[in-house]
Amino acid sequence: MDSVFRTEGLTKVYDTGTLQVRALDVVDLELYRGQLAVLLGPSGSGKSTLLNILGGLDHATDGRVWFRDTELTGMNDKQLTLYRRAHVGFVFQFYNLVASLTACENVQLVTDVARTPMRAEEALERVGLSHRLHHFPAEMSGGEQQRVAIARAIAKRPEVLLCDEPTGALDSQTGVQVLEALREVNEDLGTSTVVITHNLGIRKMAHRVIWFLDGRIDRVEENATRVAPAEISW
Ligand code: ADP
Repeated sequence: MDSVFRTEGLTKVYDTGTLQVRALDVVDLELYRGQLAVLLGPSGSGKSTLLNILGGLDHATDGRVWFRDTELTGMNDKQLTLYRRAHVGFVFQFYNLVASLTACENVQLVTDVARTPMRAEEALERVGLSHRLHHFPAEMSGGEQQRVAIARAIAKRPEVLLCDEPTGALDSQTGVQVLEALREVNEDLGTSTVVITHNLGIRKMAHRVIWFLDGRIDRVEENATRVAPAEISW
């Protein structure tokens, strides 16, 4: 299977002056192209740090990271910005939508500057929001706002979608709609997807589950059968 990301001895140390925190401690990991991977583990075990380094938002302290055949470690900030812009979509716990813009306009912020974007309407249709194109964030539920954020992230057709607690602020019912949107993107567009979550149930929709503990990979599981988002609750 083709890898989308590969890390070798990946280590991240945060130096706060008085304290050194080993957020990632010699991590060797391969994530496969087209798959949906879920990262699980206690708070502080290094999941967000890994996601940020894979997404080019942060630098490793030691070790190496590749996106396909391109090595990210060693890139300067400008090169990482270009990498992010071309290849990576992000979804965070809080949606970061512009309150004064409609759903469609929020997505257009991205499609206006991307090279081969899909139309904002298509991106919103893919996340089940065709009926909300002209609504403002304040007129939408949390789950709908998160789906606008997903539409915004996928509109530039990124190869990877990195999601940090995408359902963290949502109840089970609205969260499931967000998970359905992520699954559709993964299946229909083939977007390699990484999801950090605290909700154990979400691991059942993944191809692979990576468990973190104290900055290391504790174990990796493959799901022989995957569960539909509608069957997941928390
Ligand atoms: P998780 O996503 O699993 O909750 P994180 O990657 O956020 O874990 O954090 C891993 C460790 O690194 C934690 O001990 C956290 O406190 C520390 N950490 C994360 N970001 C920073 C930072 N910017 N400065 C200092 N320490 C940090």
